Amino acid sequence: MAMNRVQFQPGLSMAQFMERYGSEDKCEAALMAMRWPRGFECPRCGESTSSTFVREGRGYWQCSACRHQCTLISGTIFASSKLPLTRWFLAMHLLTQAKNNVSALELKRHLGVSYKSAWLVKHKVMEVMRLRETSRELDGRVEIDDAYLGGERSGGKSGRGSPNKVPIVVAVQTTPQGQPVLACLRQQPHRAEEVAIFAAQHIATSATVVSDGLWCFRATQIVGADHERVVTGGGRASVELPQLKAVNTVLSNLKTAASGTYHAFNFAKYAHRYLAELQYRFNRRFDLSAILARLLRAAALTTPHPGAVIRMAEVRH
Ligand SMILES: [Zn+2]
Repeated sequence: MAMNRVQFQPGLSMAQFMERYGSEDKCEAALMAMRWPRGFECPRCGESTSSTFVREGRGYWQCSACRHQCTLISGTIFASSKLPLTRWFLAMHLLTQAKNNVSALELKRHLGVSYKSAWLVKHKVMEVMRLRETSRELDGRVEIDDAYLGGERSGGKSGRGSPNKVPIVVAVQTTPQGQPVLACLRQQPHRAEEVAIFAAQHIATSATVVSDGLWCFRATQIVGADHERVVTGGGRASVELPQLKAVNTVLSNLKTAASGTYHAFNFAKYAHRYLAELQYRFNRRFDLSAILARLLRAAALTTPHPGAVIRMAEVRH
């Protein structure tokens, strides 16, 4: 078997993880360093002097200027959670280091918490990932294609797919030789005007877009990028175009993620987040030793998302 650059890279081992984040004190110190790298900073007024006290076993800071009281987790994605930070950190470790997607059910077993708690932890972490990827822009050679949430290509049957199928658009930036570099996946109706918006948001004007005959004009006319049109004789789905190899690689990752998810319904309802999780992991797959620290920092800087908000499906405008 050929050596795989992703599989054989040194990630963060469980032993290293435990050494760094194996106790509540260590997790608190790490979160403190990420949230307030220069020491306490009042979330309300920016003041740096404070007093501290403990109430019901939890440490509080009180701002010396405006008297605002906060904990280390208030104002972050961890806000109002009853779980210890060690559980959150372990969840983030598993969600970033595991080779395949970790389902909420699997997370429940690893964390020793209820399914409901594990689901919420996973979805909050996925939301952090989604927010980090919203402004992703692809440049250089970019393959683009339409597909469905389960990872199947649409086969050009625009508007005629099963009503249960969730349409998505997949774009992958590659090296000039076609090796995948960065991916961008969005739940997106397969309509020209919607794809044009996707292209405007995620494809640089200097990119060269590669698509099959059906898609190129739609995706590129708005952003003004060059395009390379691959025309095939037969049906679209019957041929796996070598020019769209990177897209197919990402779609096969998506198939694996979809099949490992406990509830298919869940996967469709929260498609925006599952796609973002896959995109986040894919785009950082060559940097597994730093990915956890980067995710922790993003989590510390992400504002609270109450469970009710997390449980809502994506609102599309
Ligand atoms: Zn203050």
